[in-house]
Amino acid sequence: MELPTRPLMRATYDSFDVMATLGTGTFGRVRLVKHKENNTYYALKILKKCEIVRLQQLHHIKCEVDILSKIDHPFIVNFLGSFQDDKRLYLILEYVPGGELFSYLRRQGKLSDDASRYYASQLVLAIGYLHSLHIIYRDLKPENLLITQDGSIKITDFGFAKRVEDKTWTLCGTPEYLAPEIIQSKGHGKSVDWWAIGVLIYEMLAGYPPFYDENPFGIYQKILTGKVEYPKYIDSKAKDLIKKLLTHDRTKRLGCLRNGAEDVKKHKYFSSVIWDNVIAKRDTPPYLPPITGPGDHANFDQYPESTEDTAVPLTGDDKAAFDAFNLF
Ligand code: AMP
Repeated sequence: MELPTRPLMRATYDSFDVMATLGTGTFGRVRLVKHKENNTYYALKILKKCEIVRLQQLHHIKCEVDILSKIDHPFIVNFLGSFQDDKRLYLILEYVPGGELFSYLRRQGKLSDDASRYYASQLVLAIGYLHSLHIIYRDLKPENLLITQDGSIKITDFGFAKRVEDKTWTLCGTPEYLAPEIIQSKGHGKSVDWWAIGVLIYEMLAGYPPFYDENPFGIYQKILTGKVEYPKYIDSKAKDLIKKLLTHDRTKRLGCLRNGAEDVKKHKYFSSVIWDNVIAKRDTPPYLPPITGPGDHANFDQYPESTEDTAVPLTGDDKAAFDAFNLF
């Protein structure tokens, strides 16, 4: 089934005043920008076309743009449009000013049971929504979860997301958060997101991920061995939920059974949660980010300004592939 595309805004690079760098990704930067006419701040994701071609990621980027243009959810970053010039591709995203959940978690060390439940319940709804549209997110980690002004979270970075009917086979994601079926190339579907939610809840409560090593190979080995040590301060209900999400056999993993996300919502860790209140953002957030005004970016790390322009215009077939790219 084709999903409808939301109405999106038209813009060019000159439509914006370009400000601080908010973060960096594989293909370029995400910058805070201010629209010259409506004075609204946005996050502009700037992708170098030559890097996309070099890393053969055009298909992934197309998926990212296509998926973003079709989804609409309170816990997922709002996509407003895209445009391109000869060297770059630009995605206009709503600016989420509270910084990464990752930075907050590192500052706090670990989160309380209530705070973890607050973020986990929003995430369960967002992932349940994506799965209901047959979209797998595939890159869940605290760096991709941003905190809004009202303290809730928004998932960003759909560079690995994919629309599937069943299983898919590419190796992607971040080592600490990879499910065993990805490492073993068995093909993977929605199950990988439920595994990653298990890793995330563990990391919020413990302050470090359940499978950790200095190098990625060591991490893979630990994931495949499947042994997790639970610090004593993790509550028994949380431990039970994490164990059920970190079940090796994806056919038995919570979230991957016939009732999908509903089974996760019914787990006793969430027994105090009123799901209608979660979606309506009626619960009190554990943390309100300090924000002095609409363009404040103090909640993001500072990045050195890049003055060099390493992007080169494309030619031939590569250029044609982008020219044929249907932007929104
Ligand atoms: P990405 O390349 O999409 O993973 O983004 C890289 C980094 O840029 C993220 O980890 C965030 O720190 C920042 N970022 C991405 N999207 C936004 C947004 N909509 N609002 C604020 N910061 C963002």
